[in-house]
Formats: sequence, C-alpha cells, structure tokens
Amino acid sequence: MSLIDPRTVILLSSVMSCLMAMVLYSLKRNYPPSIKGPGEWAGALVLLFAGALLVGAMGKLPAIFVIVFSSYLLWCGLYLAYVGTQRFCGVAPRVAPWLVFITAVMLLQAWFTLGDPSYHKRMIVTTLITACLSGVHAWLLIRQGTLTFARVLAISVLLALFAAQIMRLVTSFTSPLPTSAEFFDTSVFQLIYITAFAFSCLLLSISLVLMATDRLRIELEHFASHDSLTNALTRRHLDEACRAELERCRRHGRSMALLMMDLDHFKLVNDTYGHQAGDRVLIDFVTRVNALLRGADQLGRFGGEEFMALLPETSLDEAIHVAERIRELFALDVDGPHCSVSIGITTNQKDNDTVDTLLARADAALYRAKANGRNRVEAA
Ligand code: GH3
Ligand code: MG
Ligand code: MG
Repeated sequence: MSLIDPRTVILLSSVMSCLMAMVLYSLKRNYPPSIKGPGEWAGALVLLFAGALLVGAMGKLPAIFVIVFSSYLLWCGLYLAYVGTQRFCGVAPRVAPWLVFITAVMLLQAWFTLGDPSYHKRMIVTTLITACLSGVHAWLLIRQGTLTFARVLAISVLLALFAAQIMRLVTSFTSPLPTSAEFFDTSVFQLIYITAFAFSCLLLSISLVLMATDRLRIELEHFASHDSLTNALTRRHLDEACRAELERCRRHGRSMALLMMDLDHFKLVNDTYGHQAGDRVLIDFVTRVNALLRGADQLGRFGGEEFMALLPETSLDEAIHVAERIRELFALDVDGPHCSVSIGITTNQKDNDTVDTLLARADAALYRAKANGRNRVEAA
C-alpha cells in the first residue's frame, strides 16, 4: 500500500491549478494590456485542471474520456501555456501547425487506446509530446530576455519536466512494466512521475505569476523615470543622476558636463503646423540626440521644449564638440516642420558645485546663446 494515493495528488494539484488560474486571470484583468500572456496562462491551467479531473476519473468513465480526451486537454494546456509565454515575450505564436500536430498525436493515442490497446505505446507517445512541449517552452525562455529569478524558476521547472519524461521513457524500456500495467499502477516510478507532473504545473504557474509581476514593476519604473511623449528621462530622474554623478566626480576627481538645450521659436512650429506636428518635432529631437550620445550619457526632458543632457567623464572641450554636433544635426534641413536648437554648457568646476549651481550656469549659457541669435552653443 503506497503512502500517497496518486488520485489524491491529482485532485489536490488540479484544485491548486484552478486557484492559480484565478490568480492569473485577475492579473490579466488588472495589469496593463501591454503585459500579454496571463490570459493564455490562466486558460492553460483550466485545461490542465479539466484534463487532470478526467485522469482522476479513471475506472469510472470510458477510456476515450479518461485516456484520450484527458491527454488531449493536458497537451493543449501545456501548449497554451507556451503560447502565453510567446505572447509575453512578444513572439508571434504559430497556432495552426501546433494544433494539427497535437490533434494528430491525439488520434495516435486513440488508436493505442481503442484500436491496438497498449499502455507502453501510449506512454511513449505521452512522454515524447510532453517532453517536446516543455522543451520548446524552456528553450523560448532561455533565449528571451534577462534571467530573473522568476525566469530561472520557470526554466528549471520546464527542464525538470522534460527530464522526468525522458527518464520515464527510458525506464519503461530498461525495467518494462507488466503487460497488465495501467496508469494508476502503484510502482514508485509511476507515483514519482504523477507527483512531479502535479508539482511542475503548480511551480510553473507560480513562476508565471512572478514573471508578470516583474514585468509590471519594470513598466512602472519606466513610466516613473521616462517622459511619456518623448521617452526621454524625467527631470526628477535626471536630477538624481546629476547628484550621483557629481558625487562620483568629487570622489574620483573626474569631470562631467551638463548641456541645457532649448528649441528655437518652437511656439512658431505649433502655431504654424499644429500641436501634433510640434510633438513629432520633440520626439524627433530626442531620437536624434539619443543616437548621437554615448551609452553612459543621459538625456532628459526638463519641461516643454527644453532638454538636458548629462555627460559623465566629459571635459568642456569634448562637451562643446558634442553640443556642436547636436546643433548641426538638428539644423539640417528636413521636410516638414522644423526648428533649430540653442545649447548652454557647463562642467563641474569647483568642489562646492551642486546640481543647482550647475543648472544655473548652464541656464545662463543657454540664455546667452538665445540672446546672441539662437542656433548657437555657449559655455559657462
Ligand atoms: P525661444 O526660441 O525663445 O525658446 O522661443 P520658443 O517659441 O521656443 O519658446 P516659448 O517658451 O515661447 O514657447 C515654447 C512652446 O513650447 C510653447 C508651448 O506651447 C510649447 N510646448 C511645450 N510643451 C509642449 C509639448 O509637449 N508639445 C508641443 N507640441 N508643444 C509644447
Ligand atoms: Mg524654445
Ligand atoms: Mg523654452
């Protein structure tokens, strides 16, 4: 008599799958629509729940339900979880070929259940398709994005599931089951397999919830630190970056530069071409300047049509060179609404310089650039 009854494991795990499906469905309802995947993940758990219930009814319902339909539901559930992860990662799923493949395997399973009944052949089919579905899912997560705790957990669970299938397949040849063997055979391998599958589904759903929550945190952090129109950094974020960089400069005796940039006669662009055209000029400005700056440089929107760039480890001469390139690039003639830019530059000069004194000097330089005719670079 086994310590754990396989039916109890299946029942408990399917109830937990159902609860996790509700959690994932509430994420789908409440998280921004930009976070895709929780809907499919919730659906996948419902399919796994339904499949597990049918498996649990073995001996009470006809074989077509408890073997063929239940396998189909479980495989479709595993596939839908993969589709959810594809959508989460921004990969377009190719549903039709996969559904044809899974349905064809289901027909094979039906043949080994009703036409030429063989538990061993059904096991080979099941282990191969489950290994295939968990393998491609793990491979997708390994290839996409950075390895956070949630992703590592999901990958580990999927690889463990993959390994469990291969182990089950191999052991079915090395220590063959008696010909009368059935699913609820109380062999240790069978119990390990059922328990491992149940726990894998639970752990996988927990890791998917964590992945969605990670994504939400990243999006919220992005919204808090980036301007929604131009995607430049916000003034608050840049203020903090300046303060931190100034502190580093003080400790290591380095030089940093601040560029204060203001588009010339921008109001005229709005008045002539409309506010939306003005918006496009602002977006274009940020795109062009970002393409010109180095990776360590930071560009922020100071407000309206004023921008500020922080250039770490940059001397005054180097900063003037960068500012001239920005001015020249933006002064180039392009089709449609356009304007030039005036730039004021300063670098950290004294030990007691603060972000405010730097900003005041850069602002004074910008004021001079405007007063001296605009489309100019001035340093202070
Ligand atoms: P100057 O050369 O002296 O800087 O002249 P200016 O016209 O660029 O400066 P002014 O401060 O008179 O006008 C700035 C304009 O920028 C007015 C405001 O409506 C516009 N503006 C501020 N924020 C936005 C925005 O997000 N989108 C658009 N389209 N316009 C904006
Ligand atoms: Mg302006
Ligand atoms: Mg202005």
